[in-house]
Amino acid sequence: MPPATTTTVRRPRGEGQWALGYREPLNKNEENKKNDDGLNVRDRIIQIYSKAGFDSIDPADLRGRFRWYGLYTQRKPGIDGGRTGSLPDEELDDRYFMMRVRIDGGQLDGPQLRTVADIATRYARGTADITDRQNIQYHWIRIEDVPAIWEALEAVGLHTTEACGDTPRVMIGCPLAGIAADEVIDATPQLREVHDRYIGSPEFSNLPRKFKSAFSGCTAHCTVHEINDVAFVGVVNEDGEVGYQVFVGGGLSTNPMFARSLGVFVRPEQAHEVWKGVVSVFRDYGYRRLRHRARLKFLVSDWGVERFRQVLQDEYLGYALPDGPEPAAPLPRRDHVGIHPQNDGKYYVGFAPRVGRVNGELLGVVADLAERYGSGRVRTTAEQKMVILDVPAEHTEALADELARHDLQVRPSTFRRQTMACTGIEFCKLAIVETKQRAMDMVDELEKRLPDFEQPVTINVNGCPNACARIQVADIGLKGQLVVDENGDQVEGFQIHLGGALGRTFGKKVRGLKTTSAGLTDYVERVVRAYDAQRAEGETFAEWV
Ligand code: SF4
Repeated sequence: MPPATTTTVRRPRGEGQWALGYREPLNKNEENKKNDDGLNVRDRIIQIYSKAGFDSIDPADLRGRFRWYGLYTQRKPGIDGGRTGSLPDEELDDRYFMMRVRIDGGQLDGPQLRTVADIATRYARGTADITDRQNIQYHWIRIEDVPAIWEALEAVGLHTTEACGDTPRVMIGCPLAGIAADEVIDATPQLREVHDRYIGSPEFSNLPRKFKSAFSGCTAHCTVHEINDVAFVGVVNEDGEVGYQVFVGGGLSTNPMFARSLGVFVRPEQAHEVWKGVVSVFRDYGYRRLRHRARLKFLVSDWGVERFRQVLQDEYLGYALPDGPEPAAPLPRRDHVGIHPQNDGKYYVGFAPRVGRVNGELLGVVADLAERYGSGRVRTTAEQKMVILDVPAEHTEALADELARHDLQVRPSTFRRQTMACTGIEFCKLAIVETKQRAMDMVDELEKRLPDFEQPVTINVNGCPNACARIQVADIGLKGQLVVDENGDQVEGFQIHLGGALGRTFGKKVRGLKTTSAGLTDYVERVVRAYDAQRAEGETFAEWV
């Protein structure tokens, strides 16, 4: 008999997708989620931890499930960036928390803003930062105070549920939704419907990783749909019907990718079920083996949008979506800063704190001014800015003057307007360098050195290789790391990425191009001066680089 021949068939390694039968956890995070739903930690916080104190907290809750309610331990003060990553969590953890309040759509009325301000003053040592996803972020929160904070927030319709964790996080919306003179559609009803139906639902509280959504009909594309997991962008189809194009699979951090259009047309009343379909595809087919490959973008990249759309339609919607048009190109500035007309004869007034840093007292001032000059309605933006709505034309300049008295600029320099910074080493356990104060000092200094520079050059400052301040899509992206200074000493500094542009190209890491933190302002000044001197008419920074 001839010897039997054997062929080894190499089976592709499973990525932990539930829909393919991989229900056993493949890593610690998946195991924690399987052991207990993150949403269940709320009761333990109220009943046990807030009464028995920090030391009573189960580590699996402290470093895992607390995120389902927007709570992270903050970094213990005094640990330098060189030790980040080398220390166990217990040594990096402070006994205080960062708390993120989700402001879906960035929409706040007067009582809500006052509550947010009061909480900052009473419970957070005055801290309050506006994040680049329209959230408000506090620091110095004690576990004992969390139930009272939730009670205060919930009394005005706000909450922290799924503000972090492997969940559908805050949904970005245009700050001008419903009042912009040129908007394609007011996406607020769709955003609210998705929020009310699905946020806090156990159906979507165990996703492979975080899931970021955006809903907008804004012509400026201020919701940065290109870098969300799913984004609904207002369009008008060939029959003149208003609805949405849908983008999927955007995200920065490891392997940045821009979201891709599904090429569909979604009527407003369908939006909630299409959102549910997309997040269900992610829950069921998303990769759960490796955390750094668990975002939706990796699935979209592997499948392609045609297959993604097919699975969405066949397995989740049960019907085919019609083809739809692509949205128009975005405006050069997406931040809604300045004084501009609304669609009802009133005006909105957008202003710029420095790198999103405000505080309880200042938010109280904004609430006062919004009530005195407008209707009390205020918006946060995805560029760490704020907008007061409903101001009569004759009061806009008086409001701008009052804001300026509190260093909130309605006509900011390009540096203040275009610079964002993440939390950094002040509070973030992953940080290697200081960011907020460094960026604020840089803005102040550049305003003095280059008072006439007006080109919209974006400068984004990150405290580590993650992407919380979106460095990959900035003209000048600064990634915090340790660098060697001229004396051969390791000091705080930044790797420089140049020429990023949202939706078009990611900034290029220029080999060997780094600056110390101390040399940051000089470096930015040099590159900005060179661009200004050499650029052709209309040439953007990304094109010039
Ligand atoms: Fe922290 Fe890094 Fe995010 Fe900055 S980019 S907030 S340092 S994780």
